[in-house]
Amino acid sequence: MAIGGTRVDVGTDTNALLRGLLEREHAMGDGHAMSLYLNLDPREFATPAARQGEVTSVLDEAARQAPDREWKKIIESIRGRFSGEDFEVEDAHGLAIIADHAGEVEVLQLRRPVRRRVVFGEHPYLRPLLETMPRTGWGVMLVNSRMARILLGSHDELHVVRALRDDVHGRHDQGGWSQARFERGIEEEIKDHVRRAAKELFPLHQAGLFRQLLASGPEEIRPLFEQALHSYIKPAFVGWIDLDVEHCSAEDVYRVALPRIEEWERHEQETLLERLREAIGTDGRGTNGLTPVLDALNEQRADTLLLGEGFSAAGVRCRSCGWLGVAGSTCPVDEGELCAEEDIVECAVEKALLQSASVVNVGRDTPSVNGYHAVAPDILDPATAERRAVWLELEGLGSIAALLRY
Ligand SMILES: [Zn+2]
Repeated sequence: MAIGGTRVDVGTDTNALLRGLLEREHAMGDGHAMSLYLNLDPREFATPAARQGEVTSVLDEAARQAPDREWKKIIESIRGRFSGEDFEVEDAHGLAIIADHAGEVEVLQLRRPVRRRVVFGEHPYLRPLLETMPRTGWGVMLVNSRMARILLGSHDELHVVRALRDDVHGRHDQGGWSQARFERGIEEEIKDHVRRAAKELFPLHQAGLFRQLLASGPEEIRPLFEQALHSYIKPAFVGWIDLDVEHCSAEDVYRVALPRIEEWERHEQETLLERLREAIGTDGRGTNGLTPVLDALNEQRADTLLLGEGFSAAGVRCRSCGWLGVAGSTCPVDEGELCAEEDIVECAVEKALLQSASVVNVGRDTPSVNGYHAVAPDILDPATAERRAVWLELEGLGSIAALLRY
């Protein structure tokens, strides 16, 4: 979790992050939150001055919309912390600023641009975070007979976080060793080196910094590495990629890893859709379309909520028990008053997170151009239709669906 403007940690579990923001808000109990989203697309806001200008401009807009003087004070303190470099904008492509009425502020740097938004509401507005943050953290291990590097990140970026070098060939001179013994000695040292490298992964995996793993290394190292992987990490290992592990840069690794990462993530969502179709068709443990999904959420039956990126709809929410529906004036559960909600899908996300369901954003999968993502357009580009097959399929199911607990 990132606090105070640091980049969202690689591999951060998005669902856990969003749930944390919601639960804090609920603990506050006064039902006031401010959610600001800033587009800082580096192609549009190239200079530090332009980026700072955008921050100022969004804070100005927030101050104009602020419902009371308390909020104006909070906004001024946020402004002060940006100009005092307490919060930084660095190389973020987007920024989310989530604040509660007690003045607790969370600034999240995003690797993809977001649409500019200023929202005051009862809860933090989470949908843009759900749509922008990577869902899965990735690790990449580069290993040969004497060095190893570990990169962590996501489909948006990869950074080197560990590097180690074992001086395998230098420890022996040949004096006193038979050639065979010398070679056996080296083999053992290489094995030790690979084991040490694999061990470095364990704490990173336990800390939740990656869920999936790719590796690169020469043929003779590969079986050693696979054997050396901890049994917890073996299921995370996706496969090998080809790189000059000694000399490649982090950018080279990202370029080669990205197609594999995208392929895996697409496949994961296809599998999820398949499970959903099966569940809808056979055992009733799946449902789709807005009303049935809201019903399932009202009954606390959702296990996984699937949402098509960009889908929103108007609806109603009960002020006293939180019941969600598409229309009506009185709550069917407790006859409480129903209030209109501009986007009932945002309420559905909250309800799902608070009943410990996982929420999956099925993206429109806009390809990056030279490593930059644009804000996803509303109009479909036929050229990318294949990439968004899963999104289109979910659209055919009403853009919202759920796997159910029972
Ligand atoms: Zn009610």
